Amino acid sequence: MKYLCGIVLFVALLALSVRPSEEACGYEACPKTKTNMINIHMVPHSHDDVGWLKTVDQYFYGHKSNIQHAGVQYIIDTVISELIKDPARRFIQVETSFFAKWWSEQSETAKQVVKKLVNEGRLEFTGGAWSMNDEAAVNYQSVIDQFTLGLKFLDDTFGSCARPRIGWQIDPFGHSREQASIFAQMGYDGEFFARMDHRDKNNRIDNLGMEMIWDASETLSNDEIFTGLLYRHYSAPPGYCFDVHCGDDPIIDTKSYDNNVKSRVDDFLSYVTEVAKHYRSNHIMIPMGDDFQYEDAQVNFKNMDKLIKYVNERQADGSTFNLFYSTPACYLNSLHEGLQTWPNKTEDFFPYGSDDNSYWTGYFTSRPTQKRFERDGNHILQVAKQLSVFAELTSKQQKEDLEYLREIMGVMQHHDAITGTEKQAVSNDYDRLLYDGILGGVNTARDGLRKLTNLPNGEFESCLQLNISECAFTKDGADNVVVTLYNPLAHTSTQYVRVPVKNENYQVTDEKGRVVASEVVPVAWQVLALEFRNNDTQHELVFKASVDKIASYYIKKVESQESRSVAVHTQPKKSSKGQESNLEVPKRFKKMHSLKNATENYADEDGETVVQTSLIKLVIDNKTGLLKTVEMNGVSENIDQSYGVYRTYDSGAYVFRQYHQADFIIQDEGVEFTVYDGALVKEIHQQFGDYVSQVIRIYEGKNIVEFEWQVGPIEREEEFGREVVIIFNSTIASNGVSYTDSNGREMIKRVKDEREDFTPGLDRQPTAANYYPVTSRIALQDNNKRIALLNDRAQGGASMNDGQLELMLHRRLVRDDGYGVGEALNEEKYGQPMIARGKVYLILSPADESTAVEREAEKEIHLPFWKFFSKNTGSTSAAAKSVPSFEDFPKSVHLLTLEPFNDDEVLLRVENFLDHTEGKVVSFNIRPIFDYLNGVEIRETTLDGNLPLSDMKRFKFHHDNSGHRPDNVEFYTSAHKPLAAEKAQEASEFSVTLHPMQIRTFIIKTE
Ligand SMILES: [Zn+2]
Repeated sequence: MKYLCGIVLFVALLALSVRPSEEACGYEACPKTKTNMINIHMVPHSHDDVGWLKTVDQYFYGHKSNIQHAGVQYIIDTVISELIKDPARRFIQVETSFFAKWWSEQSETAKQVVKKLVNEGRLEFTGGAWSMNDEAAVNYQSVIDQFTLGLKFLDDTFGSCARPRIGWQIDPFGHSREQASIFAQMGYDGEFFARMDHRDKNNRIDNLGMEMIWDASETLSNDEIFTGLLYRHYSAPPGYCFDVHCGDDPIIDTKSYDNNVKSRVDDFLSYVTEVAKHYRSNHIMIPMGDDFQYEDAQVNFKNMDKLIKYVNERQADGSTFNLFYSTPACYLNSLHEGLQTWPNKTEDFFPYGSDDNSYWTGYFTSRPTQKRFERDGNHILQVAKQLSVFAELTSKQQKEDLEYLREIMGVMQHHDAITGTEKQAVSNDYDRLLYDGILGGVNTARDGLRKLTNLPNGEFESCLQLNISECAFTKDGADNVVVTLYNPLAHTSTQYVRVPVKNENYQVTDEKGRVVASEVVPVAWQVLALEFRNNDTQHELVFKASVDKIASYYIKKVESQESRSVAVHTQPKKSSKGQESNLEVPKRFKKMHSLKNATENYADEDGETVVQTSLIKLVIDNKTGLLKTVEMNGVSENIDQSYGVYRTYDSGAYVFRQYHQADFIIQDEGVEFTVYDGALVKEIHQQFGDYVSQVIRIYEGKNIVEFEWQVGPIEREEEFGREVVIIFNSTIASNGVSYTDSNGREMIKRVKDEREDFTPGLDRQPTAANYYPVTSRIALQDNNKRIALLNDRAQGGASMNDGQLELMLHRRLVRDDGYGVGEALNEEKYGQPMIARGKVYLILSPADESTAVEREAEKEIHLPFWKFFSKNTGSTSAAAKSVPSFEDFPKSVHLLTLEPFNDDEVLLRVENFLDHTEGKVVSFNIRPIFDYLNGVEIRETTLDGNLPLSDMKRFKFHHDNSGHRPDNVEFYTSAHKPLAAEKAQEASEFSVTLHPMQIRTFIIKTE
C-alpha cells in the first residue's frame, strides 16, 4: 500500500512539474466566485483530536480501532494523493503536531509534492498551532507558546505560503476573548468556531448575527477580529457525509436504475438555501468533514467532485448556486471584498449551554491534578528556556529536550487534554508524556545552572513532589544542602521557600554567608497520612528569599537544645482522625488551640482565636472552627470561609449538572483546628468532615492569605457524585457583579443570571449557568472593599450570592454526560479515589486601591522560584557566564518569553501586564539585553514570532454602527513603527514603549 502510494506520488510529481509553474498561494489562490450567485464555499477538513478517546499516537497510527476507528497518518496520506489529482481540490490541515509527525516520515519526493500543493494554495494550513487549544482552562502564555511552535514549524518547512490566516477553533466548548485577542495580535484575519450557547445561536440565526466583529480587548486598540459561527456544527450537511465511515448515499450519475443526481442536487440546494437565509452575504461556507474523516479520501473527493459538477450544471438553466472547493480563508476573503458591515461583540462566549439543562462548566475543573501538572510543565518550560539562552546551551540533547517539552506543552493545551475530557487511559498517557517532557526540562535547566553558578558540579536536582512535602534529595537529611532558586520573572521577587526536612535544627545562610531567618514547621497530618507518601520528612524548613534571577541558599544542620530525634510513624497510615496527636511539633510553635486536645486549649471555647502578622490579622471563631474575619491593607471584613459539596446525579467530564438545588451542603460548624504560631509563618490547620482539610497560612511581610486545600478521597454514593467547592462569604455588597480573568489576562465583568447578548435559560441549572472559567483570578467589590481569589490552576468559579465567591476544586462522578468520552469521571490513584491538593489565595483591599498588586501576585503564583537542590561539597568556581538583570524594566513589564529561536536567534517577548485601569504607557531600553546576547540585529514580529511585524496586514471589517459602508477593502497594519535595529546603531534605537496590556515580540540575531 505504501509502495503503491509512493508511485502515485512520484507520477503525480512528474505531472506537476511539467505544468508551467503558476504558483500562487494565500488569497491569490482563491477560487473565482460569481457576483450574482450564492457562492458555496465547500471546505474539506478533518477534525483530528490530539488525544481524546485514544492517545495521540494511537490516533496517529490508527492503533486500537476497537476504541475508535481513526488513523491520522492515513488521512494525510490519502488527502495528499487526492489533492494531486485535480488542482481545483482543496483541503485544510489544522493540527500541526500531527502534520509534523507525518512530515517526518515522508520521502523527499513526497515532500516536494506537498510543498507544491502548499505553494499553490491547494493544501492550506488553518489554525496551525500545535493543537487546537481549549479556551477556558489555558493560560495565555501557553497558548502563545503553542502557536509559536506550530507556526514556526510551518514557516521553517514551507515558508510564507503555509502561514495560516484563519483561527479554526471549531470544537472547544466555549470561546474566550483573550483567544480572539491572541489571533488579532498574530495578524490573523478571522476565526471560526462551532459551539455557542443554544439560545445565543438561535437569536443569531434569526437576526443575521452569525458573523460579527469581536472587540477582543478593553485595553488594546485595533484588537478586533472577524468571528464567524458555523451553521451546523462542523460536519457536512445531513445526508452528504461522503466519508468511508458514513452511510450516506454516494452520487450515482450513470445510466443506472439507482441514478440519484436529481434528488441529491435538489436536497443539497434546499439545505444551502436554508443556510444562506441566515448569513448576510451571498457567500456561505459549508464544512465537509468531521472527526477523523478522510481516511480514504478518494471516496470524499470523488463524490464532492460530482456534487460540484451537477450543482453548477444547473446554472445553464438559471440556477443561482455556485459550488466550489474553498477554504475558510477564501471564504473570509470574499466577505472582506464584499464591503458589508457587521454586528459587534465585546465580552466572551462562556459558559456554553448546549441546552438549558447542559452547561459545559464541569470541565473548567475536571481532572484538577492534571490541570495543575500542566502548570508545572509551563513553569519548568519557561525556566529551561531562559536558562538555555543565558547559558547558551547548544548540544543536540539540550535542544531536543527543550523542543520535546515545548511539543508536549502544545499537546497539553488541546481541548481534550487540559480540559480533562479525555478517557482515563489517555489522561494517563498525557501524564506520562508530560512527565518525560518535564524531566528533559529539569535536565536542561541543570546544565544551564552548572555554567551560570559557582557550582560547576552541582546536582541541581528538582523535586517534583514538593506539594506533598516530599523530596528525595532532603529525605535523609538536609545538612549541607544548597538550594538554588531560579526566578523566571523580570523583577526581583521576595518569596518564602519551603524545603521538606526532618525535625532537626538548621541554619540557612545566603551567598554572602549572612544568616537568614528560618524556622521548621510541621507538615499537616493529613499529608503525612497519605498512604503512598514516604514519611521520612514530616517538617518543612521555611525561609525568606529575595532573588533577582539566580540565588543560592545554604542549609546546614546545627546542634541546639531543642534538637531531638525524629519520631517516625509506625502505625498504619489510615486517613483517620486522631493522627494529629502523633505529630511532633517543634517547641518553638505554640499550639494555640485544638478542639481535640483539651489540655492545650489556650482559648475560650466561645471566644475567638486571633492569628496575625505585622500585615494581616485573621480571626477564627472557636465555636465553628471557621475563619470569620480578615484584616489587611487597612480594611477589615467578615469573611467566613468553608467548603461546600454539590451532590450531583448526572454531571460528567464536560457538564456540571445539579440534580436538586437543595443538594448543595456547606459545612458551617464543627471544624477542628490547630494553630501553629511561628515567627515567620502562622498556620491554621483545619479538618472539614472526612475528606477535606486545609492550612490557612500567612507569612510575615507578605500581603496575601494562602489556603492550601486537600480534597479526597471524595466519598461517593452509588447514584450520586460529589463536586467540592471552596467558598468565601463576605458582607461586600457586590450587587450580582463579579469579575473573572480571561486566560490570565484581562478581567471580564460577570453579572449573575445575565449575558451580554441574550437571556439565558436558568430554570433548570441556575448554578451551573452562572459558572465561569477562572484561570487565575475571580473578584468582587463594592464601594469600600474588594476581595480577589487567585488560584494555582484553572477552575470553575461563581458568585451565587452578593459578597460570595466559590471555586470548584475537585469532582468525583458516577455517570458519563453523553458528550462522547463515554466514561464517568472517577479518577483513581494508588488504588483509591484520587486526592487533590492545591492553593487558593485571598487578597482583601480597599475598593479604590489599584488592583496592580493582584496582577503581581498572579505572576508570582504562575511563575514562582524554581528550586534546585545540590550537595554543598565546598568546591566552587567562578561562574562560566553571568546572568543579566531585567531590573531596568518598568515594574509592570513581564518577561513573557525568552527562548532560543533558531541556532543564532533568540526570541524576546515583553508584556505590560497592567490594564487600562491599572497601568500606564511605559518605555524602556532593551539594548542591555541585546548586548548581553551579543546581538547583531533585532527585528520585531507578530505575537507568534514568525511574521515580520512590518509585513502584517490583516483584514479590517466595518461595524454596523459605523454609519457607512466602506468604499474599498481596508486592512490593519502595525499601529506603531516596528522596531528594527543593528548593533552599530545608537542605543536609542532600541527603545521599547508598551501601552497597557501590550505585548511585543522581538527576534534577536546573535553572533
Ligand atoms: Zn475535538
